[in-house]
Amino acid sequence: MLVLGALNNSILLFLFIGLLLYVLWNLYNLNQLSNWLAKPSKHTPEVIGIWDEVYYQLYQLYQRQRKSRRKLTSILNKFQKSTQALPYATIILNALNEIEWFNPAASQMFNLHSKIDIGQRIDNLIRQPKFSRYLLKKDFSKPLKLLIGQKKVIFNITPYGSGQFLISARDITSLSQLDDMRRDFISNASHELRTPLTVMSGYIEILQHTADEKTEMPLDKIQQQIVRMNKIITELIELARLESSAAIDHTMKVDVKEILNDVYNEALSLDNGKHHIELVIDACEKQSSKLHGSYEELRMAFSNLLTNAIRYTPENGNIKLFCTVNESTISVGVEDSGLGINYEHIPRLTERFYRVDEGRSREQGGTGLGLAIVKHVLDRHNASLAIQSETGKGSTFRCDFPVSHQKQ
Ligand code: ADP
Repeated sequence: MLVLGALNNSILLFLFIGLLLYVLWNLYNLNQLSNWLAKPSKHTPEVIGIWDEVYYQLYQLYQRQRKSRRKLTSILNKFQKSTQALPYATIILNALNEIEWFNPAASQMFNLHSKIDIGQRIDNLIRQPKFSRYLLKKDFSKPLKLLIGQKKVIFNITPYGSGQFLISARDITSLSQLDDMRRDFISNASHELRTPLTVMSGYIEILQHTADEKTEMPLDKIQQQIVRMNKIITELIELARLESSAAIDHTMKVDVKEILNDVYNEALSLDNGKHHIELVIDACEKQSSKLHGSYEELRMAFSNLLTNAIRYTPENGNIKLFCTVNESTISVGVEDSGLGINYEHIPRLTERFYRVDEGRSREQGGTGLGLAIVKHVLDRHNASLAIQSETGKGSTFRCDFPVSHQKQ
């Protein structure tokens, strides 16, 4: 028994000593690992067993990290270099609208200094209610134009990442001056042309009274051309006015039913029974729908669409002036069973003087400016124009007014 007990004790002792040595060895290795991790390198300590595998895996991981860090740094460097070279002011904001980063162009344009302005809210530095409202609304689908000191600046904001924003601002002072000059030139030239045309028209009228068989036809032709030129001039002046006049008063309300009745009655007398013109406004009657903006401008836009339908629909064709309402949009449109338009022309229809068939437009008394006027009026009312058309089948021109804007 005694011998057995002594044997048992010495085994336990051996086990204990073995375990202690193993723990000490691991502690030593752990210490070595901690030193190596502080300064990882290719030269790993001389180890055996599982530790060798641990070092191998850790070294692989370390190398992968180093590679991706190098890649990230190079991307960041490239990004910084390109944004620094950008002529546009670029600012990065966090979700609280605080400045995180800006390029030298932004520093110059807004007088920003990295030491004091990083971390500042942008609306504390660009102190304009219009800018604060734009940021707050978070609808960056359209750029914002602001007058900052003597400069006209256009802002484009792009949300990205987790609530961050990239602001890109451009000085458009000289561009806008050029645009003003172009607008003034067209407006002045149009006004200047009006007087000689009135004089010519007066003389032609006198000559028409004494015209004989030979001169009657040429004089009529001249008179027709004078009428046409007068129409072009009036529409050019109207376009210049739409471009340069102040933003429309959105507190003014326009009753859809009333304006469409107005446009419809005017078109009936112009058409003289040549087409079947229908007015479908039940949807707007029920909701007593209102558009916000200028009655006169909207009447002109809807009337241009209806006149076009009359112009480009053969006699006895069907024309419908309609309105629809849903929770997001109030729409006013004109549908016709007329000539239709090939799809390739559709994106260009609202350009000045763009016609699908110049001869037909002239013949029908068109100026090529009607849809350009429609587009300008709709832009001023935050609305958009949707065109659907098929050659030989007819067209639908629809003006969509977002309900959110009608509630302002
Ligand atoms: P215009 O005075 O020539 O009618 P607009 O700017 O009003 O000028 O229209 C541009 C062109 O679009 C027209 O010349 C015509 O070719 C085409 N267009 C406009 N409305 C219609 C329509 N309802 N059906 C077919 N073509 C149309």
